[in-house]
Amino acid sequence: MTSFSAFWVEKTEDGVTHQIIERTTDDLPDGDVLINVHYSSLNYKDALSSKGLPGVTKSYPHTPGIDAAGQVVESNSPLFKPGDDVVAIGFDLGMNTPGGYGQLIRVPASWITPLPAGMTARESMIIGTAGLTAALCYDKLLKMGAKPSDGPVVVTGATGGVGSVAVALLAKEGFDVIASSGKADKADYLKGLGAKEVIDRQSLSEQNPRPMDAMKYAHGIDTVGGEILTNVIKGLSYGGSVAICGLVASPTFTTTVLPFILRNVNILGIDSVSLPIEEKTRVWNMLGTDWKLSSLEDMVVEIGLNQLSSEIDKIFAGGVAGRTLVKHEALG
Ligand code: NDP
Repeated sequence: MTSFSAFWVEKTEDGVTHQIIERTTDDLPDGDVLINVHYSSLNYKDALSSKGLPGVTKSYPHTPGIDAAGQVVESNSPLFKPGDDVVAIGFDLGMNTPGGYGQLIRVPASWITPLPAGMTARESMIIGTAGLTAALCYDKLLKMGAKPSDGPVVVTGATGGVGSVAVALLAKEGFDVIASSGKADKADYLKGLGAKEVIDRQSLSEQNPRPMDAMKYAHGIDTVGGEILTNVIKGLSYGGSVAICGLVASPTFTTTVLPFILRNVNILGIDSVSLPIEEKTRVWNMLGTDWKLSSLEDMVVEIGLNQLSSEIDKIFAGGVAGRTLVKHEALG
């Protein structure tokens, strides 16, 4: 039995509390592989789970952390052996299974991918679920035939975790990126990641009674939903596609059929959680090779477990840009 530190969220009548507590391997669920987590990250979903908000974690107390990268300690699976460097994201990790905000996790082998060649554990968690999701959006746009000569690609929620990686990846691949952001003071940050143009998200938030607008975007990656997504669809060029992955502004959007039947546009759904591990592994490997980003360190803030609580509050106050990396102390 090994003791380890974990971020612990409790829901009481007075609200939600956070503390760092000692747990042991006996507290972990059954599973194939015990992993010593070196890095995790803070995603929007982790913030929802840590605040006790509905839709992510059903039962508390709980240790969130939908992302984990580290080394295998014990394995009952022929796929992994002690000492292997691995990444685990998605599925139920950090939702109802104790997640990456603990120094140890135990998970099924089917949730794990080997750390991609050409990528450090630190880089994998700067990318994390948010970055993998950005890459899945890009991958699906490519499957629809998107290419730089089509014209500019709009990215909404651009300073967020998904948005930052999407901007950097599209720019690296030669696309002109229009970054939509609510943070006027982050225009230089977005241009540094490769955005050609930065627009105020307010300009995409206005209600517009017309079923379609001037064609402004060849394609899009939308992380926010709501009126902004409605306006992106109205502004897509003929044959354009928008990959949809998030709901920060709203889970709903309105549209008529007109952009679809007159402009041949497409909406593409993106799920990083239940996507089969083989597909996740393929896209992870792309991020370690052809899609390797040189700007990862420009978009990260590193914290320890004891800073998580205040960083979670910042997410809901709209004060976070880029990715938040969570570094664990070495296991004592
Ligand atoms: P972040 O919190 O890092 O970023 C979200 C960004 O959205 C903010 O930085 C801000 O960017 C923008 N934003 C914030 N509030 C609003 C608002 N009220 N209206 C419009 N825009 C707003 O989140 P992530 O990037 O980690 O995640 C983005 C979304 O994607 C979330 O909904 C998350 O749940 C979802 N997601 C889905 C996945 C999937 O598998 N489908 C996987 C990962 C994430 P700015 O100021 O630049 O506009």
